[in-house]
Amino acid sequence: MVILDPEAIVIGAGPAGLLAAAEIAQSGHKVQVLEEHPEIGKPDHCAGLLSASGLALLGLKPPSDVIQNRVSGARIFSPAGQSLLIERGRREALVINRSRFDSWLADRAKDNGADINTQAKVLGIRTSESQTKILSIKEEGMSSERSAQVIINAEGSRCQISKALNLPVVSRRSKLPAYQYEVKGVDIDDDIVEMYYGRQTAPGFFAWLIPMGEGRARVGLAAKDSAKPRLKAAINHHPVLRERLKGATLERGFGGIVLVGLPVRRSFAQGVVVVGDAAGMVKATTGGGVIMGGIAAQIAGRTVTKALDERDFSHKSLSRYESGWRFRTLKDFRMMYVAQRALSVLSDKGLNSIIEDAKSMGLVEIVKEEGDMDMQRKVIARLMRNPRTFVLGLKALKYIDPLV
Ligand SMILES: Cc1cc2nc3c(=O)[nH]c(=O)nc-3n(C[C@H](O)[C@H](O)[C@H](O)COP(=O)(O)OP(=O)(O)OC[C@H]3O[C@@H](n4cnc5c(N)ncnc54)[C@H](O)[C@@H]3O)c2cc1C
Repeated sequence: MVILDPEAIVIGAGPAGLLAAAEIAQSGHKVQVLEEHPEIGKPDHCAGLLSASGLALLGLKPPSDVIQNRVSGARIFSPAGQSLLIERGRREALVINRSRFDSWLADRAKDNGADINTQAKVLGIRTSESQTKILSIKEEGMSSERSAQVIINAEGSRCQISKALNLPVVSRRSKLPAYQYEVKGVDIDDDIVEMYYGRQTAPGFFAWLIPMGEGRARVGLAAKDSAKPRLKAAINHHPVLRERLKGATLERGFGGIVLVGLPVRRSFAQGVVVVGDAAGMVKATTGGGVIMGGIAAQIAGRTVTKALDERDFSHKSLSRYESGWRFRTLKDFRMMYVAQRALSVLSDKGLNSIIEDAKSMGLVEIVKEEGDMDMQRKVIARLMRNPRTFVLGLKALKYIDPLV
């Protein structure tokens, strides 16, 4: 049976889907969110670090029970254990409880009028003769169908729905395995996030230690392979991490996929838009996708609202979504991708030299002046234009790993 009910259906109740749903519902249109899991926000795979400026840009003020800590900077460790502190003297980022954050976003969308259905997994999608999208769903164990004029695909990095729709998917090369533990009894400054680079420790990415306050933290790692064994090795053998975690107890471990590529080439089709991780909207330098995916999700929500107002779900109408997010974020995505690729091909010697030289050349000052946790284009571009960085870059060329 086909129920012609909601005007728009969102697949996936992660931040991107919920932000798009809130935007559409706010305008009075009927929107339904379908989430396969029984509880919003669970399981959660996130380190929970979000910039205060990014949240403000999205118009979000998470309540106190969502916020676990506030941090003012980051310390970056070279493979040799040298470190570079980037701190700007104000509380720049929030450490959040991601399950509670998603569940708060769901309440916010519901308050705007969205209908949120859990235990509702979308299995397939097809287009009727009248161009309506028909979804086959498994809901609380029962199979059913539901239709809508427009679909917002926010399924995350799995990209099965995009594949079924013949839309571009996030490439396998852009997906890195990640593993993370929540730990207590950590010897860490509660104000500072720590990042550990090195081809021995985390080839292709880095390990992190994010303070949750009161001696608790998330310690995690993403790499080109074997994230969990590499994380265990780092906890036991990395000269700095081992010291930090000497007396710590591991509370909970969880895995996930970190994205380090560029957004997909096309994020819409007749009656469909793709948002968030499903469209690869993640900062390649850090794997953070909540803010950037959220910016696109709100643009998607506004585009879909306009399409519903005008009853126009054509290619042309929905292409406004793609031009909107590209205009706001594509240059930043590209610049972050270039920076990530450059870092990931350096040998440990190269990383050591960059961190040592960056300190002595005063490059931290540039990062302090221009740095934005989300829109990193300005700071990367200024670093690239700086003659001192140019010399640093030439030096680093010596260290490009011949095996990469
Ligand atoms: C270890 C790790 C640490 C991270 N740390 C950070 C961080 O500190 N800061 C940050 O900004 N980002 C971080 N990220 C990235 C961040 O988690 C993602 O960018 C973000 O969750 C993307 O949101 P989304 O809504 O696009 O997708 P998701 O959050 O993945 O949500 C997709 C939802 O769709 C549901 N779904 C999928 N398929 C179907 C279907 N067929 N039917 C119904 N429901 C479906 C899923 O169950 C899920 O709930 C981290 C990622 C990892 C792996």
